[in-house]
Amino acid sequence: MKGRKGIPPWLLIMLGGIIATYASFINGRMDGSASMKVFIYVGLAIGVFGLGKIVFKWWKEKGKNSEEKVAEKLAGLPEKAPRIVFCSKCGAKNYNTSHFCHMCGLKLK
Ligand SMILES: [Zn+2]
Repeated sequence: MKGRKGIPPWLLIMLGGIIATYASFINGRMDGSASMKVFIYVGLAIGVFGLGKIVFKWWKEKGKNSEEKVAEKLAGLPEKAPRIVFCSKCGAKNYNTSHFCHMCGLKLK
């Protein structure tokens, strides 16, 4: 059981897909053998198991980091892209985030 933990989910999906595809291919050639149908379901089950692992991991991560992500989002929100505004007195370019003109010191807001 210790080794199974290390199987990456994408490998399970790939493996399941290969088994299901291969089994359905043989099943088609053998004209509906019941034993091959079992392999199709086994392959699909492995694929679904792999998908479930991904979803579970994603869901777990989402729950764990939700507070951190909200904090990150809030920290990033007020940072609007600075716009250029022109001073009404001297015409110098200033960022709309600055309160005074850097050239003449006129109050911009
Ligand atoms: Zn100015």
